[in-house]
Amino acid sequence: MELYFAEAIVAIIFAIIITIVLKIKKIKKVSISLGILMVIFIIVLGGTYLLEKPQVANIDKQLNFEVNQKTFIEAPKTSYHFKDVTNTVKVVGEVAFDKIGEYEIQYEIPTLIGTYKVNQTVDVVDTTAPEIILKGEESYQQSYAKEYAEPGYDVKDNYDENLVDKVQISKEEIGETEYNIIYTVEDNSGNKATKIRKVYIVDDVPPVITLNGNESMQILLNSTYKEKGATAIDEKDGDLTSKIEITGSVNTSKEGTYAITYKVADNSNNETTKTRKVVVYSKEKQKTVQAQNGTNGTKGVIYLTFDDGPTTSITPKILNILKEKNVKATFFILNYDSNEEKLVKREIEEGHTVAIHGYSHDYKKIYQSVDAYMSNITKLQEKIKKSTGCNTIITRFPGGSSNTVSRYNPGIMTRLCNEVVARGYKYFDWNVSSGDAGGARTSQDVYNNVTKGLKKDRANVVLMHDFSGNTKTVNALRDIIDYGLANRIHF
Ligand code: ZN
Repeated sequence: MELYFAEAIVAIIFAIIITIVLKIKKIKKVSISLGILMVIFIIVLGGTYLLEKPQVANIDKQLNFEVNQKTFIEAPKTSYHFKDVTNTVKVVGEVAFDKIGEYEIQYEIPTLIGTYKVNQTVDVVDTTAPEIILKGEESYQQSYAKEYAEPGYDVKDNYDENLVDKVQISKEEIGETEYNIIYTVEDNSGNKATKIRKVYIVDDVPPVITLNGNESMQILLNSTYKEKGATAIDEKDGDLTSKIEITGSVNTSKEGTYAITYKVADNSNNETTKTRKVVVYSKEKQKTVQAQNGTNGTKGVIYLTFDDGPTTSITPKILNILKEKNVKATFFILNYDSNEEKLVKREIEEGHTVAIHGYSHDYKKIYQSVDAYMSNITKLQEKIKKSTGCNTIITRFPGGSSNTVSRYNPGIMTRLCNEVVARGYKYFDWNVSSGDAGGARTSQDVYNNVTKGLKKDRANVVLMHDFSGNTKTVNALRDIIDYGLANRIHF
């Protein structure tokens, strides 16, 4: 049996006090008083021993556990009468380790006079910061020509959900070509996270080369090729024309196709190249090709078609070029007056095809109904017959057979395509567009659109217009025909 110091000292002090009291009262029978003293001493000692509380380590300290980290609580180190009784301690109470909160539990320790109970507060806490995960590059190359487009981000957290909506984004300027995107987020327990995306502004826009003259050229055998050069403009670095490198050459004494390449790079090394195709051809060959014009069975054919005429300002010029080049075309015409009637007659006299575009070009009227459309073509058909004696059955829908201009009347184009054929007409669309009624702004645009669209082994139906004021097509036509002839495509 172990004795406690404190208990012994208390007992001795008690004994001394009693002895003093006995002495003062002059009780002579010391042996009796000593006996009493011993009894008291034993009672105090025994009582103290029985009432002794177990010693639970750190009981006054709060217990903190990170959420989802624990599954049970160990008994605290406990001693009782100088003996380690930790293994007899029972932990009572529920703690949800996966849920933040304050919990009360108890430790129960068996003692000589029953079960000793101590309360303990347990805090399940979240002290782990969330993690921001950036989508895309953390070091981001941003084109100066574009707006920054956030590649996105995600947030991972040990406890809280949907923190991605709580992310705050700010921008920090570093310099002229650099800035930071700063992402911050705080979870519901106040744990903060920060992430930075470094954005570098770069020039990734190549310069634009514009060739002087046509992108494809044809020159006669033994003539001189004169390099017309090109210009280069870069959005950032400005005029780079002087930096253009031109490579390739044209042997004008030998028939064939030659390529001249124009290359330029801007200060950020974005490179652009453009090629000019030069065909060296002989008059004799061109004549052979021209002689074959109109013959069937040739592989590559160009059908030049002109819509929306006739007009006194443009149609005669086109007819003159066609005559000079001995090329036949098809004119999809609209209603005409007495001056323009002469042009319709001339078109037929010079071997071209006059075809029906329609009496009117007004989409809102002509696509209202099948009847409206049919009378729009028969009206013009009869007029042409009266003017020229020719009955034409060739037609082209204004806007083409699959257009968006008739959308106001769903299904009308399908009905019309069937109806037109059922009534004995033929309709033609196109597969090469000159863009002269839309995107093409210059004769060079018209020329480039057509020559790029032509393919050697098919029937090429080229859409052009002879409406009033369309000089860009007039100016491109001669070169377009030369291109076709030089590349051995028949008209
Ligand atoms: Zn038209």
